[in-house]
Amino acid sequence: MTTYGRFPLALERGEGCRVWDSEGKVYLDFVAGIATCTLGHSHPALVKTITEQIQTLHHVSNLYYIPQQGALAEWLVNHSCGDRAFFCNSGAEANEGAIKLARKYAHTVLNIQEPLILTAQASFHGRTLATITATGQPKYQKNFDPLMPGFAYVPYNDIGALETAIAEIDHPQRRVAAILLESLQGEGGVRPGDRAYFQRVRDICTEKGILLIFDEVQVGMGRTGNLWGYECLGIEPDIFTSAKGLAGGIPIGALISKSFCDVFQPGDHASTFGGNPFACAAALTVCQTIEQEQLLTNVRDRGEQLRQGLKAISQRYPGLIADVRGWGLINGLELADTASVTSIDIVKGAIAQGLLLVPAGPQVVRFVPPLIVSTAEVDQALGALTRTLETLQAK
Ligand SMILES: *Cc1c(COP(=O)(O)O)cnc(C)c1O
Repeated sequence: MTTYGRFPLALERGEGCRVWDSEGKVYLDFVAGIATCTLGHSHPALVKTITEQIQTLHHVSNLYYIPQQGALAEWLVNHSCGDRAFFCNSGAEANEGAIKLARKYAHTVLNIQEPLILTAQASFHGRTLATITATGQPKYQKNFDPLMPGFAYVPYNDIGALETAIAEIDHPQRRVAAILLESLQGEGGVRPGDRAYFQRVRDICTEKGILLIFDEVQVGMGRTGNLWGYECLGIEPDIFTSAKGLAGGIPIGALISKSFCDVFQPGDHASTFGGNPFACAAALTVCQTIEQEQLLTNVRDRGEQLRQGLKAISQRYPGLIADVRGWGLINGLELADTASVTSIDIVKGAIAQGLLLVPAGPQVVRFVPPLIVSTAEVDQALGALTRTLETLQAK
């Protein structure tokens, strides 16, 4: 079905941060499957793991213990604020799990008959019915109503609005049970969370017994230069989700919670493919490679290099570029209101210069390369972007 507006190229092969199309043309891949190919393409460690795993055992039901799943869960809880993990296959599915967990907690622990989940305007949480409802952007909801009950929206990074919303919805049977937020809004335009705002959100949740849920699907697994985006804000959520980069491009999702709010019991939630040996072995290799290759340091250094370069470029095109922002290797270039081009025009122009980029809305171009990206590759991307803007300016 025609669910994507596609760019006119077919990619056939990849190695590291490079991909080749069906005509043999090479591109620098700053999309990485949209923040998914953590280790780039054909990373030897990932190739070895998944080759060996498929030759040994690729899928069994969760009716049995799966050692790779146990090892992955152990790594994740040892490297996060969480205590328990549930595995599924995508970001939307992980968020669905988080919504179900929060609702069960609200009913069974908080005694709320009609639990409400607050989410942010301009957020993105996935494409299932519950997650498009959680997504605070009408364009994703249009024509798909009736939407799921039990959600309300607040502006992002606005503490006054959040306090008002919680106070207004304060009824014994109908109360805020959870707040679901991204530490940095990815699809919504690469908008980093404000530290003071999030510290206050954490305090409010703790005071009122509200669950704080973080959607780490895009920014988690090292992309920000910390393993998890919440570390950039100096707080801990009660529940968080991961997916995109978790297994480096093999489908997986994870729902991770502190033990106090893990109210799931056998039969409450499930996923046929979730946590299979193949995906879990791949994810565990991604986790171990992030540590062994010290990729978090690379993310911070290359991210700094990229932002400095983008800022220098933006000063040369003040009528075109309004802002450069991001954390680690998730960065956005915001176009000026006066710009005569959209983010799609820049992405198309960059393809012609051998650089793959992805929009985050009509005003923002997003840079999410593999975490292994080198100094030379960042320089090359900046060169390709300069040529792109040069060409667009001349038109
Ligand atoms: C991509 C994304 C999702 C949805 O993930 P899928 O795997 O496409 O279902 C959810 N939340 C955030 C923040 C995302 O970036």
